[in-house]
Amino acid sequence: MRYLTIFSLFIIQFAQAAVIAPDKRWPAGSQLNVWFLDGDKVWRSLVERYAVEWSQYANISFRFYHQKPSISHIRISFKGYDGTQLGRHDALTSDEPTMRLASLALPSTTMKQRQRIILHEFGHALGLEHEFRHPDWPYGEQWLRLQAESCSQRLNSLFTSDTELRQHCAQINARLTNNQVWQYPYDEESIMNYPIDAQWLSNRSTPIKASTSLSPGDKLAISNWYPKQNLVEASDTILRFSFKNHCAHSLYLRLSYRDEQQQNHKQQLLILKALERSTDYKSSQKEIRFNAQSNNGAFSWPARLGNQQYVSLRLDQQADSHTEIPLYCN
Ligand SMILES: [Zn+2]
Repeated sequence: MRYLTIFSLFIIQFAQAAVIAPDKRWPAGSQLNVWFLDGDKVWRSLVERYAVEWSQYANISFRFYHQKPSISHIRISFKGYDGTQLGRHDALTSDEPTMRLASLALPSTTMKQRQRIILHEFGHALGLEHEFRHPDWPYGEQWLRLQAESCSQRLNSLFTSDTELRQHCAQINARLTNNQVWQYPYDEESIMNYPIDAQWLSNRSTPIKASTSLSPGDKLAISNWYPKQNLVEASDTILRFSFKNHCAHSLYLRLSYRDEQQQNHKQQLLILKALERSTDYKSSQKEIRFNAQSNNGAFSWPARLGNQQYVSLRLDQQADSHTEIPLYCN
């Protein structure tokens, strides 16, 4: 299990993976300055290439610096271990790394693994937590305990008190609760999940495989947390939204929301052709719920449909704007 040896250091508290903590988000529309503190050109270029994938879905951009900028949000060192400070912070003039990507340069690391590491660590930088901390993580506590244990071994030299070390590692590897995070349904394919051998999973006999690209759930989540701004004007009590099908297949979508005009709760079934955008809906509540499936059955939201589950979306980040909800198939 190669990734058992890949390290993650979170200096911090809460966030979600398709779990994020609202207070760990950078403001939507931010340009994040990324400063390379060290490292060869080849690794820097690789980081630049993959990190910007998040910008296709999140309203966030990155600017990369090889010399110290006046302020920096993400500071990368290729020394030590792999790990990232979670989300937004205030230390913008520091010289200390916020992200370490030591495994990129190891000869044994494959290109797919490098892609995964960069996407995963930038997910943390945007405030995303590990998927296995999801409040609805279905595979028991054993894996979380193992993570806390390996954290204690890894960070041993950073703490003078053994009690503090263990408390820290237990905290950053504990299951998150519903009031700590905004969450989407548990998403096995999230880039924020880990590959995990079945021996660490209760009620499951197959391993969780390593994702090497952003999942449809990751794209949906990050576009909702870092929304595009002010596409359509609306009053502050009405929330406007629409869906965009980014797939090459038609989608069947079931929508549940509180209708603004008729002041009642609405259920709506719609079919969106490939690349089609739905009509605008107006909700008088911040939460809407939907589920969707591609007509070839290969993709669904939530990731595993089963028993009428819904994705809950909060539209309250920008009360005066329109939210386009993107559905990606890969
Ligand atoms: Zn991680």
